[in-house]
Amino acid sequence: MHLLLILVFVLSVQGYETQLSASGMVRYEVGHVDSDVVITAGHSGYKKPAEYGERYENGCYISANDTCAYNSINCTDTTSKDKCGTRVIADVNTSSLAKLLAHRIKLRMNGVRPHVIICDLHRSRVDVNREVNEATFGMRNAKIVYDEYHNFINTAIVSSSNGGSRNVFYIDIHGQAGNTKTVIGNLIKNNSSSSGLAQLTLSNDQASQTSLGHLVNVSGKSLEELVRGNYSIGGLIEKNSSFGVVPSPENRMSSTGTWYRGGYSLREYSMAAPVFGMQVEANHHVRSSLPNRKNFASTLANAVRCWLKEFSGNY
Ligand SMILES: [Zn+2]
Repeated sequence: MHLLLILVFVLSVQGYETQLSASGMVRYEVGHVDSDVVITAGHSGYKKPAEYGERYENGCYISANDTCAYNSINCTDTTSKDKCGTRVIADVNTSSLAKLLAHRIKLRMNGVRPHVIICDLHRSRVDVNREVNEATFGMRNAKIVYDEYHNFINTAIVSSSNGGSRNVFYIDIHGQAGNTKTVIGNLIKNNSSSSGLAQLTLSNDQASQTSLGHLVNVSGKSLEELVRGNYSIGGLIEKNSSFGVVPSPENRMSSTGTWYRGGYSLREYSMAAPVFGMQVEANHHVRSSLPNRKNFASTLANAVRCWLKEFSGNY
């Protein structure tokens, strides 16, 4: 009886429902009915149960059509390792950062908590931010978790959009150590392409190929303003904190360190109305301690609130 009372108490204190997938590997913290934000952390998983096989560190290179195959064969040749490499390292502390961000947004949005989806299976067992073959290497149990994760995101987006009448902000949280600044990915290349950040001004014509196409349409702001203007996410964070972000007005592109333009989930969910989105590649400093995560979550939440209030058209 005591235990039951304690559980009910915990649920009521949290103020939101947590759904656990059938495999037990994916958590969906159901957002407030009025929320228009979906936050995911797909690479923070730490569980490695015996029934899940290990993904290989590379697929197999198929020279005939210059592609990679990801299946049960472990290809150890040099070409396959060079051309078909995968990632199996987890993004440490990103589920913590995702939950802190949701909490801070809730505080700033009158108690309206975002939807949060977290994968607890380690990335060496499934990579939910890749297409299904590279994600699972054909392993059945990994595919189940993969589908659970993406089904929860779909459910959250449908709920957030309120039948398509509400714009939705999708935020995919990751971590990286290849850049000393936190990187905000909007599916825009860095400086290696004519459509990349090396342009003096990003053209609105390319907005539909980014994760901000819908926001450009509803906000009246240009792609350039949203990506690295004073009211870009990077601009708002740098103006109000000591955290370094790229892109921003000060850091128009990544001149040193790895660039992260955004991955599978961002492409899958944020390239069509009513959704817009970003991939946050949090740097090591931001994730390294709980106080740092709290500070960064608070600053990022302020920026997100600004976009929701000023640009999304829902308020
Ligand atoms: Zn990641």
